[in-house]
Amino acid sequence: MIPVNQPLLNGREKELLCECIETGWISSDGPFVKEFENKFSNYIGSEYGIAVCNGTAAIETALFAAGINCGDEVIMPSFTIISCALAVLRLRAVPVLVDVEPDTWNMNTDQIEARITGKTKAIMPVHIYGHPVDMDPVLEIAKKNNLLVIEDAAEVHGAEYKGNKCGSLGNISSWSFYANKIITTGEGGMVLTSDPNMAKRAASYRNLSFRSEKRFYHTEMGYNFRMTNMQAAIGIAQMDRIEEFVHIKRRLGEYYRNKLSGYKGIKCQVEKPWAKTVYWMYCIELAKETGLDADSMMKALAKKNIGTRPFFFGLHEQPVLKDLGLFKGECYPVTESISRQGLYLPSGLTLTEKQIDEVAEAVGDIMSNRTGV
Ligand SMILES: *Cc1c(COP(=O)(O)O)cnc(C)c1O
Repeated sequence: MIPVNQPLLNGREKELLCECIETGWISSDGPFVKEFENKFSNYIGSEYGIAVCNGTAAIETALFAAGINCGDEVIMPSFTIISCALAVLRLRAVPVLVDVEPDTWNMNTDQIEARITGKTKAIMPVHIYGHPVDMDPVLEIAKKNNLLVIEDAAEVHGAEYKGNKCGSLGNISSWSFYANKIITTGEGGMVLTSDPNMAKRAASYRNLSFRSEKRFYHTEMGYNFRMTNMQAAIGIAQMDRIEEFVHIKRRLGEYYRNKLSGYKGIKCQVEKPWAKTVYWMYCIELAKETGLDADSMMKALAKKNIGTRPFFFGLHEQPVLKDLGLFKGECYPVTESISRQGLYLPSGLTLTEKQIDEVAEAVGDIMSNRTGV
């Protein structure tokens, strides 16, 4: 079996985890949390890091820190994980959608301005599958309309837009360290910002909005979104090697791209000239002319013991969101097409070039059987 993903944990992870057990520091009060926050925020180039328990909590914390409130509208891509919409809804705000570009699968920035109303408070670009959103138009529109920019950077650890790291480009960013992300803490997340007030609000929200001057007396809603010292221990060990991991991802991504570029009917995510992508996932989109959709390709690959995952389903097509009366009559054709025709192939850090050869050959076999070439 070639698994779709496997974390690489053969550095200091075990040693630092043991230290947690030996010292008894297993809660969020342990010293590794602050160290991990410092290391990661330094790496990305933000002033403050606020570690939380997962990436979904990080989005909600970032939105709260940015002051998103009841009735505010937040513009986001239709092609993203449901966490983005859920976090907005939990703050009683409203997700507003734009479609994505056919070549990067990132938010189509040409559609943002038409969705701005008097209630719009923020734009939430989501850097998809390792490739940065075209941020200059986003930042320009935000400036012109006095909006905040909240980056969901859960898929782009180390990626760059015009030489600057994703997650340092807007007002605040959210991160995930789930087991399949470029660095992992098992479950985990972080909020990054260089705004001291937002950093304070984020830290407060993650910790039940305790007040420093009067403990157990609360003036705002918060949650327990704290990260444990054990998660942070793994995070520190992963930070030792983040450059190496990004390098591996890029090398494997380019190898995949070269392998698959000759296949008619298969499209990979482009790398724009202004981007440094980190190939979080090695994705393919099948042309409709192949007679295959993502589902049938995934089933055929599973029979050959190759792990895959489907693309996200559009937010406007999610039953749970439609039941809330959201996105009535809205249609996002690029999202609808890629969510049916797109999948990702084995993408872990432990993948070998020989395994990629095997995957590429399997994909080729399945395509030629179906199309009778
Ligand atoms: C993984 C991911 C998240 C959520 O992270 P969790 O840690 O799984 O909650 C959010 N946004 C994007 C774009 C992601 O890929």
